[in-house]
Amino acid sequence: MTRADTRPHARPTFHPASAPDFVPAPRLRELQLARLRAIIQHAFVHVELFRQRMESRQLAPEVRSLADIANLPFTTKVDLRDTYPFGLFATPLREVVRVHASSGTTGKPIVVAYTRQDLDIWTSVMVRSLAACGLHEGDIIQNAYGYGLFTGGLGAHYGAEGIGATVIPISGGNTDRQLMVLKDFGVTAICSTPTYFLHLIDRAVQLGLDLKSLPLRVGVFGAEPWTDSMRRHIESATGIQAFDIYGLSEIIGPGVAVECPEHDGLHIFEDHFYPEVIDPETGEALPEGQEGELVLTTLSKLAMPLVRYRTRDITTLLPGPCPCGRTLRRMRRIGRRSDDMLIIRGVNVYPSQIEAVLLEVEGTLPHYQILITREHGLDQLEIQVEVTSQVFSDRVGALEALSDRLVDTIQRVIGIHSKVTLVEPRTIQRSEGKAKRVIDKRGQS
Ligand SMILES: [Zn+2]
Repeated sequence: MTRADTRPHARPTFHPASAPDFVPAPRLRELQLARLRAIIQHAFVHVELFRQRMESRQLAPEVRSLADIANLPFTTKVDLRDTYPFGLFATPLREVVRVHASSGTTGKPIVVAYTRQDLDIWTSVMVRSLAACGLHEGDIIQNAYGYGLFTGGLGAHYGAEGIGATVIPISGGNTDRQLMVLKDFGVTAICSTPTYFLHLIDRAVQLGLDLKSLPLRVGVFGAEPWTDSMRRHIESATGIQAFDIYGLSEIIGPGVAVECPEHDGLHIFEDHFYPEVIDPETGEALPEGQEGELVLTTLSKLAMPLVRYRTRDITTLLPGPCPCGRTLRRMRRIGRRSDDMLIIRGVNVYPSQIEAVLLEVEGTLPHYQILITREHGLDQLEIQVEVTSQVFSDRVGALEALSDRLVDTIQRVIGIHSKVTLVEPRTIQRSEGKAKRVIDKRGQS
């Protein structure tokens, strides 16, 4: 029996919008090749940076097979910064009907553009995403992604309207009002970051609102990496089915890939986004089943086509077909980004490794923070994690035993010793968007 069979809400999704997800693989490859040819021509003619890179490698903008993609130059986030704001646009501004921007942690944002046709494609992949999550006409979708320059809000909004659902464009924040609407409007699905949904769960408990008693049945969570342990926590606390959706502004926004009810990897909408996984050190393409950096080529977007964009997200292309019947290839859920990697005492550590340990242990809550400091030239790692009030009210020995166990398990997983501090519920600051899990104070003293 597969895991999906045991779920009360799991059911096959045969929404008509999902038809392109089931196109036979040979036809899909033909379509990809035709689109790749056209987009490489388009980018070569209209994007100076791309043309220069091709010419410096003495490459003509001709593609004979999909395998040729491995010879094309990469595009990086630095390229988007260097050409700020409109340098990578491939259509005149009068054909651009919308721009979005993603806030960089430092300096200028990166700007992305859409023609009318690009927006239609975006809506279509979001409709297919929501359909894969089992949503349809008649659903009431609370969209708690932030509206604005961030692509999450409007991306999910048009997808939800496109599928014929009733959309509540509530945006992020104002937690008590979110819960009121969730309850009073009979909401059946919510879109948000997983972190913000955890915050809603928390607040609901405080207010005595039982989320399991509501019609809410689906959560579409994305815009930050999260683990399967987090999914289990969310699902058992609320009784909903939680889906992982993946996207990034540079490629289109949310709707690049999504889970189906099997929850075994995310199907990439590869009729629009061609995936590769490369060795991040050498740039060599890796075979299916090997972990590396996800690289995406937009196959149909006109205003800002990106060729071999290095996402810095670490994943694996999964071999073999999915039991749901979709022919779209799957990637493992993104647990980490190469940007997230911390080097502590010379050891590579990803916050997701720590999160997985914390959530597997009984008594801890999914709220934690990782603090890194440097004392006398040596990196110190401290993990603060909230524990249930039950654990806190137990005898003192219980707290110590739990913290010792976490220190041991974390050391086994990441290879270095940490200090674990157990704190009371609601001690760690909550986020209304993406969580701030890591505070690195090295270099500040
Ligand atoms: Zn599937």
